[in-house]
Amino acid sequence: MLRNKVAVITGSSSGIGKEIALNFVKNGAKVVINYPFEGSKSEAEKVVAQIQEAGGEAIAVMADVSQFEQAQALMKVAVDTFGSLDILVNNAGITRDMLLLRMTEEEFDRVININLKGVFNCMKHGSRIMMKKGGSIINMSSVVGLHGNIGQCNYAASKAGVIGMTKSAAREFASKNLRINAIAPGFIVSNMTDKLPEAIKENTLKGIPINRFGNVEEVANVALFLASDLSSYVTGEVIKVDGGMAM
Ligand code: NAP
Repeated sequence: MLRNKVAVITGSSSGIGKEIALNFVKNGAKVVINYPFEGSKSEAEKVVAQIQEAGGEAIAVMADVSQFEQAQALMKVAVDTFGSLDILVNNAGITRDMLLLRMTEEEFDRVININLKGVFNCMKHGSRIMMKKGGSIINMSSVVGLHGNIGQCNYAASKAGVIGMTKSAAREFASKNLRINAIAPGFIVSNMTDKLPEAIKENTLKGIPINRFGNVEEVANVALFLASDLSSYVTGEVIKVDGGMAM
């Protein structure tokens, strides 16, 4: 479904981003695996090795998406290495959970800088390349951006911001055949959710009609739909992948 397409997936050395990369490669894409810091290099290289062993094409590129110039370099390397940029998945994200009264300015700024400004940085530089022949941008939001959550004022604001930015950019680029959509996962098993206390997990499960947590493959399949021509008339949309949690 993605033969000869080139995809950049931010934050793809682990979790949802890694699974999206593996899924895209299985469907014929060449991928740029992005990681933020020297400390994640070996994980990113393992993903590249796994892809190459299976006969796919991938490179690992360090870039902190919250840094404007690094985001620009990340987009450029895709074109320099593989000759184009057709799909951009803005997946990189962090949490710094704390009740509003105790949340520090640093905790607020860090989450906004990576989760929201990072999406702006990558869309700004990526869209300039992609608008020439069209493509698909997929931004990772969250059901928390739709409904809020105790202890996540910073994260909810960033993910709600991603939805507003997705819809605005989708309007700006629709005539260029550059489609821009968001995915809003619910509770997906990954490093991000593994660190949550058991009591919170049990309580969350009670609110999920499908009665289980989601897995990374289930998010990657929706990303594949949005990246491919199967969704050729879909733009400015937010697709929840949450087992019915936020309906
Ligand atoms: P994850 O495994 O922690 O993945 C986040 C990825 O982002 C990691 O690879 C991380 O790299 C990378 N990253 C962090 N800061 C970065 C930066 N400044 N520049 C580039 N990359 C950076 O968690 P995940 O669950 O797969 O999350 C992926 C996305 O889905 C996030 O946007 C998250 O908010 C969203 N989401 C997740 C859930 C869920 O239930 N898991 C629900 C809703 C939305 P390092 O590990 O090397 O720091």
